[in-house]
Amino acid sequence: MRNVRNLLQKYYGYEDFRPGQAEIVDSLLNGKDTLAIMPTGAGKSLCFQLPALLLPGVTIVVSPLISLMKDQVDALHALGIAATYINSSLTAAEVSDRMYNARRNKYKLLYVAPERLETEQFQAAVRTLEISMVAIDEAHCISQWGHDFRPSYRAIEPFIAQLPERPVIGAFTATATENVKQDILELLALREPATYFTGFDRPNLRFAVIRGENKPDFIMSYAAAHKSHSGIVYAATRKEVDKLYAALRKKGYNVQRYHAGLNDEERKKNQEAFIHDDAKIMVATNAFGMGIDKSDVRYVIHYNMPKNMEAYYQEAGRAGRDGEPAECILLFGPQDIMLQKFLIEQSVLDYERKSGEFAKLQDMVDYCHTPDCLRRYILAYFGETAPEGECGNCGNCNDDSEVVNITVEAQKVLSCIVRVNQRYGSTVIADILKGSRSKRILQQHFDELSVYGILKEYSLQEIKDLINRLIATGYLWLTENEYPVVKMTEKGGAVLKQRAEVWQKVPRRPQKGAADNSLFELLRVVRKKIADRERVPPYVVFADSTLKEMSEYLPADRQALRKIKGVGETKLERYGDEFLSVIGQHAADRQSQPPDCPAVPATAEKKEDTPSHILTLNLFQTGLSLAEIAAQRQLKPVTIQDHLMRCGIEGHAIDWSLFIPARYEAAILAAIHKLGTAKLKALKDALPDEVDYMAIKATLCKHRKDLAQ
Ligand code: ADP
Ligand code: ZN
Repeated sequence: MRNVRNLLQKYYGYEDFRPGQAEIVDSLLNGKDTLAIMPTGAGKSLCFQLPALLLPGVTIVVSPLISLMKDQVDALHALGIAATYINSSLTAAEVSDRMYNARRNKYKLLYVAPERLETEQFQAAVRTLEISMVAIDEAHCISQWGHDFRPSYRAIEPFIAQLPERPVIGAFTATATENVKQDILELLALREPATYFTGFDRPNLRFAVIRGENKPDFIMSYAAAHKSHSGIVYAATRKEVDKLYAALRKKGYNVQRYHAGLNDEERKKNQEAFIHDDAKIMVATNAFGMGIDKSDVRYVIHYNMPKNMEAYYQEAGRAGRDGEPAECILLFGPQDIMLQKFLIEQSVLDYERKSGEFAKLQDMVDYCHTPDCLRRYILAYFGETAPEGECGNCGNCNDDSEVVNITVEAQKVLSCIVRVNQRYGSTVIADILKGSRSKRILQQHFDELSVYGILKEYSLQEIKDLINRLIATGYLWLTENEYPVVKMTEKGGAVLKQRAEVWQKVPRRPQKGAADNSLFELLRVVRKKIADRERVPPYVVFADSTLKEMSEYLPADRQALRKIKGVGETKLERYGDEFLSVIGQHAADRQSQPPDCPAVPATAEKKEDTPSHILTLNLFQTGLSLAEIAAQRQLKPVTIQDHLMRCGIEGHAIDWSLFIPARYEAAILAAIHKLGTAKLKALKDALPDEVDYMAIKATLCKHRKDLAQ
């Protein structure tokens, strides 16, 4: 095994194996047929790539998707490992070229689609190769019980059987149901197989369910707080995808969309943009994701509840494949249940299957309402027992929402519903409570009701959110038809009769994401530049975690850089110097206070205690607005602004984009280039009124490196 560890270091730059990897590699190297069941992101690829490096001859990797093959081969090239693929995207000349090279032992791994194995030509061509191993990726595709049955996977076994010498077989999947497992073992005819199951848990994923929240608002504030992160937002319908996409686009976000209503070309283009970090947010239906290997997806938000836990875990699982912290948030709304029920009812399934689907839907709904650990719920659903105690990394275990008494507000809503005889939908109810003067309300004389306007101090949206929350928590229910009517439940009745109180968690708005580190951002720029030059996705160059380590340890030379996780020999050789130069430059900048930001006050802060600007920074990091900080510290807002500027220049992480309206950023920069940085007032006068001083100062700070040149 020492040899294997050396290779792990040399090529991949990893110190250690992840759970299960060492055993699986060992098993294959010992010539044992092996079935490995590992959740997405656990690191399956390495389990067959490492043995392939050590075994003589070539390993054939069967992979279901062309896009996956290309990604994997690109990633292997970046690591300095000889590999190629053969599929229908190549011309006949390219295929014979690659086969020629294969015969000359040019590759350690040869990726093929299962269909290729059936062709006479391919069978003849490989008979002359020394094939030590056949690795079958996404092996569940062989089973009709799996979710992606692929008939041509059945061609794998006959293909292996006709080889002059039987290679060792490795089968890899994330699906662990008993039916699928049996199918894999039998249909691939594995001999005395060793089976490894590493468990379903994904400790780096933080699961959360948010109920009764205004969904579009949530998405907007989440996107604002996570600007530098890649994320997927899944919505249930094309229409919803289009709407969200347009809304995000309008706010200036770098967003793409994906659904079955777009043509092939458009889908491909949008997907590429997301993979290459040209777009940060992907809004999509569940058509998106199969074969997406992007490892640095930092969040997956479900705008609607999916149809069952299998679908949810698969989609949410696309977050954080690189093992770094990532968030999986489900925005639950009662209407989601109706949509899913409707879809099941409309489906062509027979009665029994339909009942099965309804039962699964109920499990999904229960997930959305359980007050217990969400991770435990998921693991239990998939037949695993979680370790005792709370996981400490899900929305229910570390809940930072406030619990407030909303009995009075709830009673107002309930009495309004009773006043109109439980015959109207939530929009009308909210309008009455708000005291709306809309035609519909006045025509029906709702303005004469005693409940008219009794929640007028709230916004209409807040009232609607309140109603949704009361539905989600069982005080109200919605009838199931095209125009759902809000009705009161027994539980709601008790509240109205003053027999029960309503205490509810009110979710806090998403705060600024984990503080962004300015060097990290610079390293991402270098990475993107290299990725575009080499025509590979940025994560193939280096994972986020690798850049983060660089920005923490500040390696000064090649030797130090080599110690960073994810930096193997080939990558060190190819990209090392570009990163080192940026790291060096950054360190130098931090030592000398650059004089390139005019907004920084020259006044010295008191020396004794924590400097004043750091106190401001601490408050800012708790999520307070500048105005709130000014009030709390009894300082002028402009002083608070200047504190932040100073922190930024000292290298503290500040997300300047929070202050810069995206659509004016270019205009502000243009004005700076034209008028210089000396006079803020001149800049302010030259720009639209909506651009405040803070926006100008933030732009100066954000771009100070470029402006200094
Ligand atoms: P899977 O195919 O199981 O979904 P991958 O093989 O794509 O997962 O691996 C997911 C991520 O984990 C990749 O970015 C990979 O580089 C990383 N990874 C794999 N093994 C290790 C390891 N031993 N140490 C650190 N990172 C690893
Ligand atoms: Zn938990």
